[in-house]
Amino acid sequence: MKRSLAGIAILAVVAGLLYYAAGRREVELHQREFFVMGTLVSITIADTDRATALRAMEAAEEDFRYMDRTWNPWKPSALRRINQLLASTEWFSVAPSVEPLIRDSMELYERSGGLFNPAVGGLVALWGFNRDEPPTTPPPREAIGDLVARAPSMADIEFDGIRIRSRNAAVQLDFGAFAKGRAVRIVTDLLLEMGIRNAIVNAGGDLRAIGRRGDRPWRIAIRRPSGEGYLAVLETRGDESIFTSGDYERWFEYQGRRYHHILDPRTGYPAEGVSSVTVVHGDAGLADAAATALFVAGPEKWPETARAMGVEQVMVVGSDGTVYMTPAMAERIRFEEEPPRVVIRSP
Ligand code: ADP
Ligand code: MG
Repeated sequence: MKRSLAGIAILAVVAGLLYYAAGRREVELHQREFFVMGTLVSITIADTDRATALRAMEAAEEDFRYMDRTWNPWKPSALRRINQLLASTEWFSVAPSVEPLIRDSMELYERSGGLFNPAVGGLVALWGFNRDEPPTTPPPREAIGDLVARAPSMADIEFDGIRIRSRNAAVQLDFGAFAKGRAVRIVTDLLLEMGIRNAIVNAGGDLRAIGRRGDRPWRIAIRRPSGEGYLAVLETRGDESIFTSGDYERWFEYQGRRYHHILDPRTGYPAEGVSSVTVVHGDAGLADAAATALFVAGPEKWPETARAMGVEQVMVVGSDGTVYMTPAMAERIRFEEEPPRVVIRSP
């Protein structure tokens, strides 16, 4: 058989058009944004009929608002009541809406070697990072020293199966480093239960992605710690959560020094040496807690903490711009611009 040149040309054009169409297949996305937990939450759903997507997004928002109300220790809430009772060091029955958060935090506290410590609510309040407006001056050195000497920790909490108490009156719970992750996990589970298979639940840049965006993976941009734009891009695989802790989220400057909201429980001061930590993991709550713990661990010690917490995909941006990564992260991340220095370290 002899094919004419024209026939081959037409075949090539048709193939090209098909390829073009496949590359550009429009995906119908449903999206809803709302402000909750001090951040902008955005829910994106792909490949789902409109009615189901709308119902799911409404339920998701309702759940977020419920968790915000329940877990905010600085407003009248179940957690605030718990903090009052913990300060009494007496036994009491803990609200079921908060109990799983406390139990899981106790375990994550142990695994992080005490670096993830939601019992530091007193320190957070002393610094003023709990207020809507950022503080303008650091608290007195003695006040920080006194609180650090009382060493409030998750290990001070006791459970008898039904009731709970703190042996240390300085324990004040603040789940600022964990609640967003836990909420993202719960809300995404809700979407899965409603039959949604392709979605992103994004809380201020921290997110869980499931499935795909039509015929391609979800593409996630990771913010640059300082300045504009993004540092790198990740394509998600299946069901993954990506959480970043950064010194740029809440901070103030005083006498030429920068003070941010991630505190080293050992010193009572903002953790030093790191600008941001990004963790990818299947469990959004763990990813959130680990990002905070690795931030406190610092540019030298983070691999040990990563191993102890069971996270394999990590990127740490040091204060000097050095990018530290695990091999599992280096293998998949794509940088917008080559970082000045890259150090690969195994957990
Ligand atoms: P982001 O606000 O960027 O999500 P994190 O997840 O790291 O940051 O959470 C920071 C918040 O967690 C702080 O605002 C404070 O409420 C609380 N926090 C600060 N230091 C610690 C710590 N060492 N362990 C647990 N929680 C902390
Ligand atoms: Mg965190």
